[in-house]
Amino acid sequence: MPVTTQKILFRNISILDSTGADPYPGDVLVDNDRIAAVGTVDPASAEGARVIGGRGRTLMSGLCDAHTHFTWNNSADLDGLGTLPVEEHLLFAIESAKTYIDSGYTMCVGAASAKPRLDVVCRDAINAGRIPGPRYLANGPEVAVTGGALVKGITWFADGPEEMHKTVRKLIEIGVDQIKLSMTGEEITGTQRAEDTHFSDEEVAAAVTEAHRRGIRVCAHARSAESVKMCVRHGVDIIYHASFTDAEGMDMLEAAKDWVFVAPGINWLVATLYEAESFGFPQEAAEAVGYKKELEIATEGLREMHRRGIKLLPGGDYGFAWTPHGTYARDLEHFVERLGFTPMEAILSATALGGEIMLRPDELGKVQPGYLADLLLVDGDPLADITILQDHDRLHYIMKDGRFHKETEPAPAQA
Ligand SMILES: [Zn+2]
Repeated sequence: MPVTTQKILFRNISILDSTGADPYPGDVLVDNDRIAAVGTVDPASAEGARVIGGRGRTLMSGLCDAHTHFTWNNSADLDGLGTLPVEEHLLFAIESAKTYIDSGYTMCVGAASAKPRLDVVCRDAINAGRIPGPRYLANGPEVAVTGGALVKGITWFADGPEEMHKTVRKLIEIGVDQIKLSMTGEEITGTQRAEDTHFSDEEVAAAVTEAHRRGIRVCAHARSAESVKMCVRHGVDIIYHASFTDAEGMDMLEAAKDWVFVAPGINWLVATLYEAESFGFPQEAAEAVGYKKELEIATEGLREMHRRGIKLLPGGDYGFAWTPHGTYARDLEHFVERLGFTPMEAILSATALGGEIMLRPDELGKVQPGYLADLLLVDGDPLADITILQDHDRLHYIMKDGRFHKETEPAPAQA
């Protein structure tokens, strides 16, 4: 097949470039998979380009979800994650991948796969162009110590440093990009307390040493104060939740802010507390097991982390009945409404920091020359109203790698 060059010129757009600069009017030229020019485009270089008339709409980077589960199946029955047959489960994961990119997400960090190879297979199929989806860093089953599974049937167990080494090696053999340690409980389980820490220092150290030896990162479900400190002490790269971070943990996070990422998964707490009633978990029940207290303490801690410049990323553990796939951008609203981010800061967290957590800060997450063309053309100004990113109808164009995943031009009569 001949290699065809493909140029696309976005003309007369508001450029939200994720450098922190205010949006400015201009044009953006995409040449094959890369952004070639931003702001002023030399007409000669745009010759032969397909032109998209922007009419002032916002052009921005695709979004990143730092805590993704393709395999969470929108169910209220958590145990069903373990019992769902692998064939149906793969189909669901493929649909989730499509839902992410349909929602404007071009970068996702896998935070555990309900069956060993589902994440890896989806990642490889996306990369091969066989199925639509975001750029994906795949995970495996979460690793817990005996008795520490949050959901039945989706966990691998390891006790003591020796078994940690071996389990991490098995996960690397599957082909994962990162390892998930499930270090604390979670109140909805009814038996595992969020503030209980299951892992020993030796176990965390062994898992991280083994993973890092092979260039694989480690992420952790870490709600308790002690688990957050353990993560920092032993170099866990991505800390999920961090709800009960104490003063000492806060100082440790601040000292580690050059390398550590925190992704609180804040929508899980909000929705589990306020929106799970019709799925059999009313607010009184959520409050009784401590979700209200956890949300209050977590909110205060996360606001402090933001003040101290610790890298906080959206990504909300989506894929339960009350946090269904496709509603991912609610996290950005929570960052603004609850955590005190400006809309610009929330967007930088979901884009520029997304490029960092994907380990490609020089080519993902910004609208800059030389970056990969992962772009959204949004109807409206997300800085004026961050919630418009939740409305898929306002994501008129979605591009990944210079190719349109979606291109919808509303009829002129409605414009
Ligand atoms: Zn999760």
